Amino acid sequence: MDCCGVGLHSGAAVHMRILPAPAGRGIVFRRVDLDGFEMEATGRNLARVSYATSLMKKGVLISTTEHLLSAFIGMGIDNAIVELDNLELPILDGSAWPFVELIRKAGIRKQRRLRTYLRIRRELELREGDKFIAVYPADTYSVSYTINFPHSLIGKETFRAELEDGNYLSQIAPARTFGFREDEQAMRNMGLIRGASRDNCIVLTKSGIENPPLRYPDEFVRHKVLDLIGDLALIGRQVLGNVVADRAGHAMHTALVCRLLRDRTLWEETTVEDVPSPISTPMRALAAQTA
Ligand SMILES: [Zn+2]
Repeated sequence: MDCCGVGLHSGAAVHMRILPAPAGRGIVFRRVDLDGFEMEATGRNLARVSYATSLMKKGVLISTTEHLLSAFIGMGIDNAIVELDNLELPILDGSAWPFVELIRKAGIRKQRRLRTYLRIRRELELREGDKFIAVYPADTYSVSYTINFPHSLIGKETFRAELEDGNYLSQIAPARTFGFREDEQAMRNMGLIRGASRDNCIVLTKSGIENPPLRYPDEFVRHKVLDLIGDLALIGRQVLGNVVADRAGHAMHTALVCRLLRDRTLWEETTVEDVPSPISTPMRALAAQTA
């Protein structure tokens, strides 16, 4: 099986394959079009970040990583190789759901090692104008997001997700990315959203949406939670902490990752003894075919 799609921003056709990886390998991207060049999914490889999150190593780019990495965190996948033959991941339906289905189809194999978590020890708060993001100590991983768009279908929305008990799959993974029709031309002029269509994002008009129905009444803020989880995956470990974001975006999400990785006094590495949680990897190689 294989997965083909287009990149949201590049519009480039891309073929993606997910393969199992040994314990301790983490999530690694592999550019099969560039002699198998490999890049670890970590904040150390962060590149410029604007409307999507991109990684760069030795001049090689991997773009729009957030939806797949979000699915890996939500499904407890610690180790995997992601093969791509172009620079941007496929956008598919604009959510993480197609990735979830792919991983399910492949199966998940438990590995003989306990998961090492990054447990937040001290709070970290970042502010930029009216944007805010913070992480606080907690025994579980939870994410809360607030957005505020002057639109009749959105307005001020807050969504809080506890990343346990399959909540990710039912509440977060299906939420699609969205865009405003009136911003389209300006974004295209910047070389962005060349692959965007009504099949891969919710298109908002001045008063409604062009491609109903919504999957949730508050699908917009849920997608922000999905993005945040995917960006924080660049920490490279599952997190024990409570993340709170208010009108943040990829740049602030990844700023939090960089600050955390730089300051070892903010966290400790720990295994959770009472609930042994083995790490996992996809059971076999897989990919998906989309139109
Ligand atoms: Zn997104």
